Amino acid sequence: MKNYTCNVVVVGAGPAGLAAAISAKKNGAENVIIIERENRMGGILKQCIHAGFGLQYFGEELTGPEYAEKFMNLAKDAGVEFLLNTTAIEIKEKSLLCVNTEGVVHIEFGALVLAMGCRERTRANLMIPGSRPAGIYTAGTAQKLINVFGHKVGDEVVILGSGDIGMIMARRLTMGGAKVKAVIEIMPYLAGLVRNKLQCLDDFDIPLMLSHTIVDITGVDRVESVTVAPVDEKRQPIMEQAQVIPCDTLLLSVGLIPENELTRSADVSLSGITKGAVVNQYKQTDKPYIFACGNVLHVNDLVDHVSHESEDAGKFAAMYAAGKLPQTEEISVEPGEGVRYVCPQKMAATEENVDLYFRTAAPGRNTTLTISDDTGVLVTKKLVRTTPGTIEKLTLPGELAKNTCGKLVVRAEHKEV
Ligand SMILES: Cc1cc2nc3c(=O)[nH]c(=O)nc-3n(C[C@H](O)[C@H](O)[C@H](O)COP(=O)(O)OP(=O)(O)OC[C@H]3O[C@@H](n4cnc5c(N)ncnc54)[C@H](O)[C@@H]3O)c2cc1C
Repeated sequence: MKNYTCNVVVVGAGPAGLAAAISAKKNGAENVIIIERENRMGGILKQCIHAGFGLQYFGEELTGPEYAEKFMNLAKDAGVEFLLNTTAIEIKEKSLLCVNTEGVVHIEFGALVLAMGCRERTRANLMIPGSRPAGIYTAGTAQKLINVFGHKVGDEVVILGSGDIGMIMARRLTMGGAKVKAVIEIMPYLAGLVRNKLQCLDDFDIPLMLSHTIVDITGVDRVESVTVAPVDEKRQPIMEQAQVIPCDTLLLSVGLIPENELTRSADVSLSGITKGAVVNQYKQTDKPYIFACGNVLHVNDLVDHVSHESEDAGKFAAMYAAGKLPQTEEISVEPGEGVRYVCPQKMAATEENVDLYFRTAAPGRNTTLTISDDTGVLVTKKLVRTTPGTIEKLTLPGELAKNTCGKLVVRAEHKEV
C-alpha cells in the first residue's frame, strides 16, 4: 500500500477538478493532489472537439481539448500533483482509498473536493420498448467513438432528446456525411441551449420534433426503424398518430446523472432534484471536510460556469484545511414558483456576496427573477427570455446576506409564455 498526506485532495481531473486544485494552491494549500481514473487529464472535454468553449472565462472561442489544456498547464505550473490511472473508491472520515495498477493507495487529507463529473442516462433508464439490435448509443459514447477513435457510427440517424450533447452530435454526424432524420424531444420545449439549436439543428435543416417520443425500436442485428408518437399533456404517447422512421442508428441524449457513488460512501446528503450533494455557498457538504463542484454537484450548461464554481470549491477547501473557514449557522435556500432547483441549497451566515445558480422550470419571456426572505424581495433581475436549458445566476449582496431573515426563496415569474 502507498500512503500520501496532503492538505487538499481532488477526485477527478476534468475542468472542475483542475480549476479547484489550481484555486486551492493559489489560496495557500501547500500539497494538492488530483486523483484521475483515466490516463489523461481533461475529463469529458477531451472528446468535445467543437468550438464554443471559453467565451466567458477566457474571452476567446476554444475547442474542448484547448480549454482543458489551458487548465492542465496552469495546474502543472501551480505545482499540483497528479495520480493518473487511479480510481478513488471510498472515503472514510479524512482518508481516501484509491486503487491503481500498483495496488492500493491511501491518502490522508485536510479537505477533499469531489469533481467526478456525470454519466449519461441509457436506454435502460428510459425503458424504451422494442428489440435490442446494434446501433443504439448514448450521444457521448458516439461522440467518443467518432472524435477520439475515428469510427463511424451510422448512416441514417434519429436522436432522442434535445440536450446539448444530442444537438452537437446531430451537427457532427451531418458534417461527417450521415443523414440525421430528426431530433425527438418529449417535452414541449428544448432541453439544451438555444444557441445549440440555431447552430446545430437550424443551420443544417435538421427537424426538431417537440412533444414527441420513441415508442418502439425495430431491427434484428442492426436498428431498422424507430416508431415516433406525439405525446399528450401528461406525456403519454398518442399511438393513433405514431409514425415509423427508417434509420440504422439511434442516439440517446436524455440527461446526465452525477457520478455520486463515492459521495454516498461518505454518507454525504444528496439533493433529490440535482442528484448532487447538498452544499452551502462554499460548496461545502454536510461533512464539513468534503466539498463538491462541477457536474457531480449539478449538471451545468457551460464549462465556463463549471470553472468559476470549482474555483470557489478549491478556495474554500484550502481555507477549511487551514482551519480558516468559519463554521456559522446556515439558512435554507429553496426553489419557489417557476424554479426547478437552486444550488447552493444552504447559506452560511456571511458578509460577502453569495451567488445562487438555478434553472427555471419552464421557458418564458419577460421574466422577473427574485430572491426573497421572510421580509420580502431582496434582489430582482429582469430577463427578456429564460429557458430550463440555461443556468441562471442571482447574486445576493453581502450587506443583504448578513441580515437575511428566515429562509431564502428564488422565484421566476414569466409575463409571456
Ligand atoms: C458526453 C458529454 C459531452 C459534453 N459535451 C459538452 C460540450 O460540448 N460543451 C459543454 O460546454 N459541455 C459539454 N458537456 C458538459 C461537460 O461535462 C461539462 O461542461 C464539464 O466537462 C464538466 O466538468 P467536470 O470536471 O465536472 O466533469 P468531467 O469533465 O466529466 O470530469 C470528471 C473527471 O472525473 C474522473 N472521475 C470520475 N470518477 C472518478 C473516480 N472515482 N476516481 C478518479 N477519477 C474519477 C473522470 O474520469 C473525469 O476525468 C458534456 C458532457 C458530457 C457527459
